[in-house]
This record gives sequence, C-alpha cells and structure tokens, in this order.
Amino acid sequence: MSNGLQEDIANTIKKMKNPTGMGESDNWLRHTGEGNTICDEMLLTGGTRNQMAKAMVDRGLKPNIKEALQRVKRHFNHLKAVGKSESQRGHNLPLIEDSDGKWRFDLKIMEQMHSGSTHPVSNPTILKRCLPEKSDIELAESQRRETPDEVIGIDAVLDQVEKNFKEAGKPLKENWREITKQNIKIWFSKK
Ligand SMILES: [Zn+2]
Repeated sequence: MSNGLQEDIANTIKKMKNPTGMGESDNWLRHTGEGNTICDEMLLTGGTRNQMAKAMVDRGLKPNIKEALQRVKRHFNHLKAVGKSESQRGHNLPLIEDSDGKWRFDLKIMEQMHSGSTHPVSNPTILKRCLPEKSDIELAESQRRETPDEVIGIDAVLDQVEKNFKEAGKPLKENWREITKQNIKIWFSKK
C-alpha cells in the first residue's frame, strides 16, 4: 500500500493545476463531507485558516469560528501526517503558508517528492549521466575490429560504446551521440 501516498501527491498536483471547484462529495483524497472537502478545495488555490473556518460556519457545519478553526487545524495535521494504518495515516502532503497567511499545498515540494518517486534509484550519483571519453572510443573500436585494417563506421563504434556503458551500469546523456561525434572529430583529427 506504499504507493497510496504517492497517488495522493500525484492527484493533488493534478488538481492544483486544474481545480474543478467545490461540491464533490467524495474528493481526490477520498474525503467525504463538506467539512473535510472545504479545506482540501481551498488549499488548491490558497486560503487563510480563517477563511476556511468561516466557510464552515457559513454552511452550518460548525457553530462558531473557534470550533471551526480547531477543525481546520486538525485537518491540516491529517493532511500532513504520515501514519501507519489506512485510516490514521494521513496523506504526507506538504502545506505552505504565504506572507498573506494563505495556506496551500506546496506544489514545488510535491513535484520534488513525485519526481523522486518515479526514479527509484536513491543514490543521486548513480543517476549522473556521462559522456564517453577518448579511451572509451578507442576501446570500442578495438572491440569491433576483427582485422587490423578494418575500417569501423562511427555508428558501429558508438553502438559498441553504448553496449559497454550499459553493461557497466553507466547512463549516457540523452544527446551523447551528437556530442561524441563532435568530440571524435576533435580527438582523432589528423592535423
Ligand atoms: Zn484523509
């Protein structure tokens, strides 16, 4: 069930980018009842705790602002919490308050959390993408060459480089072929 929280983050990002307005009875965080969904909806676009509490009082969900504010704070804690069980766990959603006292879901942090989840490699140095060096090209060319005078096409050499890097678990930069072709011209030009 570990991807439940990740789904909440992904769905909240989606909602923030395309808020559909109030009135859902069972919203994207599986919350039902206006008391819960008022806060969720207002956190998409930003609202103060007082605005949320007032909305609850206006709709007759709470008798006064003081009680409504307590409800808002409890709901904030629930959104931020990471508990164990499905019912207690909360949503692990980051909230941020701006200088006007308006609260919203922290889109920036959520996007970081979300992109982190799509790349399961935890060590960032492993993700560093590299470019082949001159020695990688020389090695690849020698691996491909079957007779001393054989001329190996550049693409065949690069295919071999790609294979070697893959086997070594080293990811290549996206445009590594173009860059390396330019480098090869420099490295092996006979001036
Ligand atoms: Zn919840």
